[in-house]
Amino acid sequence: MKLPKILLIAPTYINSANTMYFPIGMAYLCSYLEKKGFEIDGINMNNYGLEKGLEKVSTLLKSKKYDVIGIGGLTIAFEQIEYLIKKLRCLSDAKIVLGGGITACESEIVIKEIKPDYMIISEGELIFEELLYHIADIKKPLPKGSWSFNLNRSEIEYQNNESYSINELDELPFPDYEKMEIDKFIDIQSGEIWSHHKVDPFVGKYIPISASRSCPFKCTFCYHSGMGKYRKHSVDYATEFIKRLKEKYKITHFLIYDELFSLNKKRVIEFCEKIKKLNISFMCQLRVDQIDLEMLKTMKDAGCIEISYGIESGSNKVIESMQKKITAEQIENAIKLTREAKIGIQGNFLYGDPAETEETIKDSLKFQEKNKLYFSDWSMVLPYPGTVLHNIALSKNLINDRVQFIKDIANTSKYLWNSPINLTNFSDKEYIERYSMLKEINDKNHRKVLTKIIEAKDIDSKHSYLKVSCPTCNYESEYENFPFPFNKENLFKNKESFYGFLGINLVCPNCRSKHHLLPKQIPHISKEFKLFESKLKNFIKKNKNIVVMPAIDRYFSAIKDDTNLFNISVNGVLDSREYRIGDKFLNSKVEKLSKETILKYSNKSFIIYPWVEYEKAYNLLISNGIQKEKILMWNKI
Ligand code: SF4
Repeated sequence: MKLPKILLIAPTYINSANTMYFPIGMAYLCSYLEKKGFEIDGINMNNYGLEKGLEKVSTLLKSKKYDVIGIGGLTIAFEQIEYLIKKLRCLSDAKIVLGGGITACESEIVIKEIKPDYMIISEGELIFEELLYHIADIKKPLPKGSWSFNLNRSEIEYQNNESYSINELDELPFPDYEKMEIDKFIDIQSGEIWSHHKVDPFVGKYIPISASRSCPFKCTFCYHSGMGKYRKHSVDYATEFIKRLKEKYKITHFLIYDELFSLNKKRVIEFCEKIKKLNISFMCQLRVDQIDLEMLKTMKDAGCIEISYGIESGSNKVIESMQKKITAEQIENAIKLTREAKIGIQGNFLYGDPAETEETIKDSLKFQEKNKLYFSDWSMVLPYPGTVLHNIALSKNLINDRVQFIKDIANTSKYLWNSPINLTNFSDKEYIERYSMLKEINDKNHRKVLTKIIEAKDIDSKHSYLKVSCPTCNYESEYENFPFPFNKENLFKNKESFYGFLGINLVCPNCRSKHHLLPKQIPHISKEFKLFESKLKNFIKKNKNIVVMPAIDRYFSAIKDDTNLFNISVNGVLDSREYRIGDKFLNSKVEKLSKETILKYSNKSFIIYPWVEYEKAYNLLISNGIQKEKILMWNKI
């Protein structure tokens, strides 16, 4: 039997090149299938972005013939995968196999909408291998855990949901990171860990690894609860793999991407003892009920610099409703012990569980107020397919169009701000207002622990030199060339959003506590503010009657603290977001941005602050006869 040649493609999650995603699962698939004698290549499109990634795929398909193209991803990549498969159909007649988290829930919708030839609804290795034998020889049966789709008749031909997966992870060869282009993934990293308004420039470049699969818990919002049995690699396997990666790529920082790093203290301690000799640093995710001080100190000693805990809420009512099987007291204790061990903390809060009320929000805020030295952020519940919350949302008729819901799932701003899936008893308006308030309080909390500046000077329009000291332990650090905002692609090109206005949380390299650097403390940013302030002043002098947009909410107090941008009196405020209409902003009632309101204010002048809808608003003004000179825009300074 002639074995098929395979190309594995990791689809993009956002259009531009990014380091948010390295396809560890596909790297496992590569080495497993290679060992079985298959010829296999891989592309991680995230390394290139959508269009450049497609060019790369197209070039490869012109130079080499593949029999099978495997694509794997999460539900949030639905539209990107759909687009990719349409393109692939024009480039190749290879059979297309879809796998990954996207196939495991709402499988029927996924296969009918995306139209791959085959779909694997469980872990890849074993089922994909069997499927490849079927593709090579049609007499061999389709395996369990796979589906097939007849493109001509546009219907499902075979469907088997009996999933199965490998029991002993150590039986798998080390994942082939090279095939999935780890070199490029490392190359495009900017050298600092940057996430959720937090930066850690002393960590440098990193490689993600996986030491276990799945999770034995069943939290109501979490899709992982449906991903089969919890299994783990032996400590020897995991540490040997890290050692090899370190030697080969000269990288000394690792992100352990498992849902749950370990359920077993003995295993963590054994891992730490082995890893310590490698002189690396690492970050991981743990549950608050799985730790004690001895374990944390051992982890610190072995190079652990940050632990991510799913805090979710400060209210026991909500935590219980989420079936987290922990308590607020356990969370508080874990935070205290982790701080004591001088390990950094990323704590994530989740708003919008069905049990969320005014009272539970207050509990969470009290909890957050007590714990300011670690980094936290709020997210809103999104009922992903396959979760308990998804079923609740369906039963409450909150998801009217299941197909559209999956397609839109990556468009979080739509759900968060315009049409949230609101599982609480709050009205939609109250629901969004409370979320906005939580985000704002979170921002304010960051500002309660400020970086101490020892010396600061601008180097050029995009960088500053900073010497700072940690307000908690007085440790001094120097940033030779501090770029802010950090995203190089968007650096000063895209001033439509408030990216860069909120300041940044720095992590002390010594005690790993968080402190906050205000934008106005960064000389090159401070200059930008002053420039806009002076333009604003001149504009107001010339144009007395002013209408502004949008009615800024979450970032308002931060920008107000840092700048003089809002020391103006206005004749009107316009916004396109429904939930802001009717509110008060700058002492004026917010009106809907529309042709009618623009005409109503046609003899006035307009100021557009940074706004994601900037282009839309500007074009609407111009198309309704407002002259360019009558508009002042932040992103045009
Ligand atoms: S939230 Fe964490 S503990 Fe809960 S099911 Fe998901 S991975 Fe497991």
